[in-house]
Amino acid sequence: MASGSSKRPPAKPLRVGGALVKRGQRRRLEIPVARLPTGTALSLPVTVLRGREPGPTVWLSAAVHGDEINGTEIIRQVVRQLNVRTLRGALICAPIVNVYGFIERSRYLPDRRDLNRYFPGSATGSLASRLAHLFLQEIVAHCSHGIDFHTGALHRSNLPHIRADLANAEVRRLAEAFAPPLVFDSPRIKGSLRAEAYRRKIPILLFEGGQPLEFADDVVKVGVEGTLRFLAALDMIEPQVATRAKRRTMEAIAARWLRAGRSGILHPETSLGERVTKGQILAWISDPFSGRRRSMKAPFDGVVFAQAVTPLVYQGDAVLRLARVARRRSVKAKKTARKKKVAKKAVKTGAKRAGTTSKPVAARKKAVRKKPSSPPS
Ligand SMILES: [Zn+2]
Repeated sequence: MASGSSKRPPAKPLRVGGALVKRGQRRRLEIPVARLPTGTALSLPVTVLRGREPGPTVWLSAAVHGDEINGTEIIRQVVRQLNVRTLRGALICAPIVNVYGFIERSRYLPDRRDLNRYFPGSATGSLASRLAHLFLQEIVAHCSHGIDFHTGALHRSNLPHIRADLANAEVRRLAEAFAPPLVFDSPRIKGSLRAEAYRRKIPILLFEGGQPLEFADDVVKVGVEGTLRFLAALDMIEPQVATRAKRRTMEAIAARWLRAGRSGILHPETSLGERVTKGQILAWISDPFSGRRRSMKAPFDGVVFAQAVTPLVYQGDAVLRLARVARRRSVKAKKTARKKKVAKKAVKTGAKRAGTTSKPVAARKKAVRKKPSSPPS
């Protein structure tokens, strides 16, 4: 179901990187970024699909960290499946935002700056600052919604998940439509694209999945299917283009990195997405020569959603990330809650009719019970 705001037609002609994109057009554009020291011009590759019918304008971006390329493949596969004749609204795809890092197989820009700490940037600042500014001006400025694709940092892999500001009803609706294995209302990082989109009140999902410098088929599949469901939820494509979500999404309400207590060889005992219980051994770190080893145990019940992929660890290295997930309410619990609500309403109505303003007993009891029946989101 589309929200009211997503039905707004683009008010102005769509001009990206100086090129006009008409309704019903698919255009491949090169937005000039800068010249390399060799004099070679470097550009930001963008594909714009503008449907014949009006609708939201969405950007898809990947490789803001130049070595995080699963999203590059996700965007390629999404674009291949869309038809501008039936698309409502427009899609602006930037599969390689940090063009420098992508070429160098690096997270960073040539000056070692992290692009995702330099938003909103400026036209006259550092290279990172200029690229951030260009991306906002040429792409984000046209958009009503966006998805930014990432992976774990070097030598770490992430369970495919969405990070987003779930307190925002529209963001939550879209995250649920995306239906990844896990959603996480993680804190926004200062200078990130997500933080800047939030400041501009643009609903954004941040996708995380897999590790740098790889195309992981399972991660790409989650990303492609989720993006199509996201577009269907915005009524940009027909729901049948997207596959129905087959899994229940877990919601992380807290997360903690578990660090290596000693240096050594890592032997994981768990895999990404696995549910673990408090006290369960998650990994061993052993001495390479002797049989001595130290265990890493789960400090709480949770789900492993990030893991080191290299067997060599130093003391203090982040090895595993555990998410505490919201307890799912069973159908029975939901029915009971609904019954209670109806009963409460009946008591309230009765009290009103009787001309009293005092809280009914059931409501008073609930007010005293500070702890919510379902975990906070
Ligand atoms: Zn990243």
